[in-house]
Amino acid sequence: MTSISKKVKNIAESQTIAMTSLAKKLQAEGKNIISLSAGEPDFPTPENIKQAAIRAIQNNFTKYTENEGIPELREVVAQKFRKDNGLDVKASNILVSNGGKHSIYNALQAVCDPGDEVIIVTPYWVSFPEMVKLADAVPVILRTKEKNGFTFTADDVEHLLTKKTKAMIINSPSNPAGSILDEKTLRGIAEVAVKNDFFIISDEIYEKIIYDDGKHFSIGSIPEVKDKVITIGGVSKAYAMTGWRIGFMAANEEIIKSAAKVQSQVTSNPSSISQMAALEAVCCDQGEIEKMRASFQKRRDIAFNKLSKVRGLKTTKPSGAFYFFPSVRELFGKRYDGTKLNNSFDVTHYILTEAQVALVPGAAFGSDEHVRISFACSENQLVEAIDRIAVAIEKLQ
Ligand code: PMP
Repeated sequence: MTSISKKVKNIAESQTIAMTSLAKKLQAEGKNIISLSAGEPDFPTPENIKQAAIRAIQNNFTKYTENEGIPELREVVAQKFRKDNGLDVKASNILVSNGGKHSIYNALQAVCDPGDEVIIVTPYWVSFPEMVKLADAVPVILRTKEKNGFTFTADDVEHLLTKKTKAMIINSPSNPAGSILDEKTLRGIAEVAVKNDFFIISDEIYEKIIYDDGKHFSIGSIPEVKDKVITIGGVSKAYAMTGWRIGFMAANEEIIKSAAKVQSQVTSNPSSISQMAALEAVCCDQGEIEKMRASFQKRRDIAFNKLSKVRGLKTTKPSGAFYFFPSVRELFGKRYDGTKLNNSFDVTHYILTEAQVALVPGAAFGSDEHVRISFACSENQLVEAIDRIAVAIEKLQ
């Protein structure tokens, strides 16, 4: 009997996408679902960016472009990385792809051989381990603790190294914990990477969504390690452009050429129209970003106040990105209609059916004692959703 590949059977479906689709389906059936499952800003894409795309269509900029992305976009992305992140890069160090997710996939395909190990930190973004497996490599999990703010040290990394360690993926600010790696930790990781010769894939997609006096630091700006770092960025989160599918990587030219080779055989260039929109986003007035960041911070503060009062949830205040990742451990063992809550799936299932609020189980991020709550939605929805969650939790016995 023929069958689909073992490799694909071994890959999990993205739980964030699955939950978001389920919420959309229930909404279409007329249920009053509030979805706090998606990782996307609720703001519309800024007007100047939309107009750039409309102009691209009107000017018939609708054909294949250079596989690596149009030269003007590679140039402004290189400028952005130089100015904002301190990277020593030019246009030839940039590859534009179909979203940051695609950039990470291309990077892993470019550097991994079968059996190579790639270190991933918990709680991790759902796609990291699955993309590592798609590259025939092996995810090696670095477990962090909630009581340490989900952070880790260079020593923790060193403990996991073997002869097969090929790369480490870091993500700051992180999805789902909202934690930020400080400069000292990043310098420590850089030293370990240089000494032990492995790549660092640094996913910085949330770099513009940082709260209070938090600072973003790019590990690729450290000269000693720069040739080993692949920095990932994109327009999805900072410019409310999730649907446009533009992401980019900055790396040494050999990596860029290799990742571009993968891209040339799988997707070719990202959408010509979206590239024009991204060009406008990256090089023009950045005022909208600050407005959106300030709104996220306001929502975080309102929601954190409320969540801290919900019995059974233990919530840490995120320093960046737009997610809470509260512990739901205290709810385990409680019952509804005779059914016991044993894990994060049970909790999100109960909250979806009882409170009609869609969350994502922490198990999808490698942490079954938590759930992820996105606050990239309106204040009203957020407040109502937390009220509903609190009422549902009170009903548990
Ligand atoms: N990295 C992280 C940590 C993310 O949360 C996301 C989106 N959820 C991405 C990368 C990819 O974003 P996109 O493909 O939309 O650019």
